[in-house]
Amino acid sequence: MSMTTSENNICSKNTLLEETILQVEKAVQRLGLDSGYVKILKEPKRVLSVSIPIRMDNGSIEVFRGFRVQHNLARGPAKGGIRYHPEVDMDEVTALAMLMTWKCAVVNIPYGGAKGGVICNPKELSLGELERLTRRFASEISIIIGPEKDIPAPDVYTNPQVMAWIMDTFSMHQGFSVPAVVTGKPIEIGGSQGRNEATGRGVVFTIEEAASRLEINLDESTAAIQGYGNVGSVAAADLSNLGCRIVAVSDSRGGIYSEKGLDLEKLNAYKASTGSVVGYPEVRPVSNQDLLTLDCDVLVPAALENQITGENAPKIKARLVAEGANGPITHTADQILFERGITVIPDILANAGGVVVSYFEWVQDLQNFYWTKDEVNRQLRSRMVESFREVYQFKEQDGVSMREAAYMLALGRVARAMEFRGLYP
Ligand code: NAD
Repeated sequence: MSMTTSENNICSKNTLLEETILQVEKAVQRLGLDSGYVKILKEPKRVLSVSIPIRMDNGSIEVFRGFRVQHNLARGPAKGGIRYHPEVDMDEVTALAMLMTWKCAVVNIPYGGAKGGVICNPKELSLGELERLTRRFASEISIIIGPEKDIPAPDVYTNPQVMAWIMDTFSMHQGFSVPAVVTGKPIEIGGSQGRNEATGRGVVFTIEEAASRLEINLDESTAAIQGYGNVGSVAAADLSNLGCRIVAVSDSRGGIYSEKGLDLEKLNAYKASTGSVVGYPEVRPVSNQDLLTLDCDVLVPAALENQITGENAPKIKARLVAEGANGPITHTADQILFERGITVIPDILANAGGVVVSYFEWVQDLQNFYWTKDEVNRQLRSRMVESFREVYQFKEQDGVSMREAAYMLALGRVARAMEFRGLYP
């Protein structure tokens, strides 16, 4: 089966967890909150580890391990993707669940954070094995998921088909259809218009906001995109529609550069036929690392984590960096970019468009009333623009980076919810 979402995004687990906790500590301190919140928020609220025995096509039994972690439920049910990967583990899933808490809070959608994972190599499983694995995993975690409890979505190597199987399995247990139990479903069973493009589109909405404040005229600007996948290709297309010249893009095999700008329609046709952007005619090849330090106004790392490091941060030429990927900039690099006056739109804001439209999908499912694509995009824009403004206000007031500002906004929201609810019992 072809698995189309977020390939290769296996983060350096400890780094991600440690860096997220570091940001939390800083934000709690800046906001003058009770340090007890750090103690609570460092720990996931609920962790479920399950064994998934399935019958393989050759008749043998294999047992897989799966997790679902709910980090915090103060602001609403848990929300977050499910990742299938041979190297996924509990630490990684916990770090990603925590990130989801902040992401949902930054864009002010009424969810807490969650994440799931199954240790497996989906590329080595047949379609039937993958379906049995998914249904058994869905069944095992059904005790903690549900429209009011925890709503999974696709992540690395899971896709709308996997969501459809989860929805069907959960619905079979209930005896009726429960579309709102997952998002990122096919449209035919309650998926939302505009969900596929939502993350890349949201990235560009935040770029537009930042550009206007930095007095970058997108119409006359250039952009480089690392990772021409779901997020990167939509971001490139939307930027190009705004008049921005896309001078470089890349994928796992390498990158291409054209000073006069790439023709994205032709490039998409080339990529569809060859599977890569590499080898596209009349351009200069560029490595994934060199792409990051090209002369351009806007840089969108939309592939992997830890791409901009202490080593290459001093050489970044873009004035604006929007994190399409989760965690593409290391902590050290982040500080260097801040000191150099380069604006970074942090992942928990820049790439939150996906979870925002997932929220819209859930709302539509609960109401059995479905929106047009225009309505989805209008609401997405309004949510992203509003969130950007709120983060920017913190940044201006406190003289901090956009990342610190985003954490302050998120932490404030989560802490206030926890304060009102109080400590049980
Ligand atoms: P995708 O699999 O569609 O695309 C990833 C792209 O990155 C592919 O073109 C791949 O070839 C390329 N790539 C892989 N390794 C690379 C490398 N070493 N150097 C350069 N490029 C490389 O995935 P996606 O959904 O576009 O996700 C991209 C990033 O955005 C991930 O970090 C993901 O976690 C994050 N993200 C995605 C969403 C979403 O809704 N899809 C939401 C939030 C965050």
